[in-house]
Amino acid sequence: MYMYVNSAPIKSFVRHYPGLKRLASSLAFVFDIDGVLVRGKRALPAAKRALAILDGNNRFGIKIPYILLTNGGGVSEVTRCNELSEQLGVQIKPEQYIQAHTVVRSIVHKYADTPVLVLGGRGDTLRHVAEGYGFRQVYNTLDVLAWNPSVWPFHDLTMEERTSAKAADFSKIPIGAIFVFHDPRNWALDIQVMCDVLRSGGVIGAPPYMSECSRRPVDLVFCNPDLVWKSEFDRPRLGQGAFKEAFQAVFKALTGTTYPYVQLGKPTEQTYRFSETVLGRYAGGNSSLQIYMVGDNPESDIAGANAAGWKSILVNTGVYDPRQGPPKHKPTHEAENVEKAVLWALEQVLQL
Ligand SMILES: [Mg+2]
Repeated sequence: MYMYVNSAPIKSFVRHYPGLKRLASSLAFVFDIDGVLVRGKRALPAAKRALAILDGNNRFGIKIPYILLTNGGGVSEVTRCNELSEQLGVQIKPEQYIQAHTVVRSIVHKYADTPVLVLGGRGDTLRHVAEGYGFRQVYNTLDVLAWNPSVWPFHDLTMEERTSAKAADFSKIPIGAIFVFHDPRNWALDIQVMCDVLRSGGVIGAPPYMSECSRRPVDLVFCNPDLVWKSEFDRPRLGQGAFKEAFQAVFKALTGTTYPYVQLGKPTEQTYRFSETVLGRYAGGNSSLQIYMVGDNPESDIAGANAAGWKSILVNTGVYDPRQGPPKHKPTHEAENVEKAVLWALEQVLQL
């Protein structure tokens, strides 16, 4: 039987059974953003209602913690949270927001003093984001082109790119790791520079790296595995996963082998474990949370949540279309939208 969110009989029932309130306070949500809370620049009406329920407008009269987990990125967490707060009409704090490259924070200590190459985003936006995470020597491929235009003679730096480039002599800088934070704007330049760095063992322009040499190979980290994503265009667009395929195909044609890499982002285990830590901290140190993930993408949101041992709810407001057959990864529950998903999860707690 459906029970209304604010019905007085339920409130009084809950008052008399404080154990239920305790159960409700062990509940926490992780929301995907695109196709769940917003579509393009527009907030979905059900999202505003769902967040109001979590803000205390529920039968328990309690606030239920939630975080947002997206494979998007390309700007700082603060910038994106400001945009989302505006769109959704509630304050979204950086402490409750994880985008594809936020997870890099958990490994930055290994590279703090290592020169690294960060790819993706516009201009040098991601240099500042990476410095904010704790990297001290961050370079991008436009810096490389400003150092030596013949590295890739098919792109002329704009005045803006030249201004934001960091002066460096890359013939003397051993790059220790490449992080693909977000979708590169110039695949050709970036694939060329990646091949230069990875084949030489770090120094652009040095001869190909010999495996018998004792130097540690350059680490390669991708932050979002999505092959395609949905912009406001009718058909899916190539994502960072497609860039990885293109890079690996070129690298294999050159060397006969693909390059080993670390993958972050949904649905990887590392990203879900990181999310549990962030959510636990946001929920005031509660480490025994029942986590419900609400997503629109069976292959990332649902697959990752199921593997992490969370409950998963698949909504029909984004990429998943129930008319095209059952999802590849079966969720705990399917809901029409995020509001129905939240109400269903609350209902589960009441029935326990
Ligand atoms: Mg989505």
